[in-house]
Amino acid sequence: MTRELRGTPAAPGVAVAAPWLHRPAVTGAPARLSLFDASAAAVAEISALATLLRDRGREAEAEIMDAQSLMAQDPALHEAADQLVADGTRPADAIVQAGEAVAASFEAIGDEILAARAADVRDVAARIARVMTGVAAPRLERRSVVVAADLPPSVTVELDRALLAGIALEGGSRTSHAAILSRSLGIPAVVGVAGLCDAVPTVMELGIDGDAGIAYLDPDAETAARLAAASAAAGERARADAAFAAGVLATNDGHRVICAANIGEPTEAEAAFAAGAEAIGLFRTEFAFAGRSTAPDEATQAAAYAQVLRAAHGAEVVFRLADIGGDKPIAYLPIEPEANPFLGLRAIRLAARHPELLPTQLHAILRASADVGARASIMAPMVADEEDLALVLRLVEDACAAVPDAAGPRVGIMIEVPSAVLLADRLAPRIDFISIGTNDLTQYLLAADRSNAALAARQDPLHPAVLRAIGQVVEAVRGTTRCTVAVCGEMAGDPAGAQLLVGLGVDELSMEPRAFGAVKRAVGTRSMPDLVALARTAQHMRSAAEVRRAVEAAA
Ligand code: PEP
Ligand code: MG
Repeated sequence: MTRELRGTPAAPGVAVAAPWLHRPAVTGAPARLSLFDASAAAVAEISALATLLRDRGREAEAEIMDAQSLMAQDPALHEAADQLVADGTRPADAIVQAGEAVAASFEAIGDEILAARAADVRDVAARIARVMTGVAAPRLERRSVVVAADLPPSVTVELDRALLAGIALEGGSRTSHAAILSRSLGIPAVVGVAGLCDAVPTVMELGIDGDAGIAYLDPDAETAARLAAASAAAGERARADAAFAAGVLATNDGHRVICAANIGEPTEAEAAFAAGAEAIGLFRTEFAFAGRSTAPDEATQAAAYAQVLRAAHGAEVVFRLADIGGDKPIAYLPIEPEANPFLGLRAIRLAARHPELLPTQLHAILRASADVGARASIMAPMVADEEDLALVLRLVEDACAAVPDAAGPRVGIMIEVPSAVLLADRLAPRIDFISIGTNDLTQYLLAADRSNAALAARQDPLHPAVLRAIGQVVEAVRGTTRCTVAVCGEMAGDPAGAQLLVGLGVDELSMEPRAFGAVKRAVGTRSMPDLVALARTAQHMRSAAEVRRAVEAAA
């Protein structure tokens, strides 16, 4: 019988293949090179990998290799290893132990990003030990799902892509390197699967569902067939869609819409532009606030924001102010237990409780903008009315006065609260842009908690009420001279949703880059008058399911 182990979804897609367990280097072998020579050889290997990755346009991974090259030359690492050798430890063991000590000190800080760097240090030390002892690098021999406690980045990039079916980690998080790399490589991945490494040695076949975050140990015929069929269908669709990803987002009669990317990490920006983004339409900055014991300071935030502005080369970057609370609680910004966190102290509602939070973030955004010489766009989540907007505009004004040399930012709001839909004609004239957050707007309009799986069928943004709300916001924006309207909820990355949004007159669709091809392909098969008519009819239908059928039938 199939055994299921639940973890966290890290990269979408499904895979079924033999498991391949990666174990950290065993170092008992005698050294053939000195620590100095082995480190130099490891740096040469890492640099060669970085060049190879860059040549293939895999910048995010190349940057990880650059960072590892510096770590391999770190005098502190070498001194610690030399000391251990002087105390009688074998050289290969010494470098691994020294790497472990540095990694443990990173992890002790309790910062998710630094914890991810710990994996890099261990990886570098293991590579130096491997070079020193002449042990061959691990290789895949057949199509496999790679399993590990945590997968070092250099192992990921050296694995034969043709044989790498998926990644399943016992540790890791959505922000660990292996997860970031899997997403950028388009390889399904699950992380945080407790008990996986111990279970795998007796497993012949491993299935993973990267959307649901489930690992299936020795899937039975029915589960394997379901996963294989889903994998084949997704692969075929992805291949067909990929041809459209780099093109423009336009109807077949030339109505253009901006194709923007949603990102959660600065490192995703480069790949988003490479994948065909014209802008970053939603940078969910709150991810950098999670998994830490204190808020990131202004300089740390500014460095991250500057990285995204640099990757954009002058294209627009929308920084969403930290959307904390609701389903994204942060331990060091305590909120008393709430019966309904989604209706509670969330996003800009936290400004009064934590008055330093938003000014620090705004200063960091403006400082990054000044440093890079690029205009930033600032977006406030959960704005409900004119008082909320006044607060946001005042905070931005104060920040601009405090960081005066920054190019004045574009300022916008998310519309995700129903009151803001009804007040859109009052809000839109005072701002540069609106981005509709259909994930929250759907849950609030339909009173259906987005985290409640039992209500999944009620959370479809194709519901006629949501379409009417979006239509109302578009109309309010059209009554202004400067405001534009985007959609950055999941609806924008759903080909059916995207067709309706274009028909409703939205200016920009912002989505996960992996959706670009499918969305551009779907919109590109339709004419603007067709989509306008479809969107109009859909607003008079009875249910989201009926709308979905109508969009599919019209294709
Ligand atoms: C939304 O609500 O549609 C949105 C984009 O924000 P998040 O999903 O991060 O709440
Ligand atoms: Mg939201």
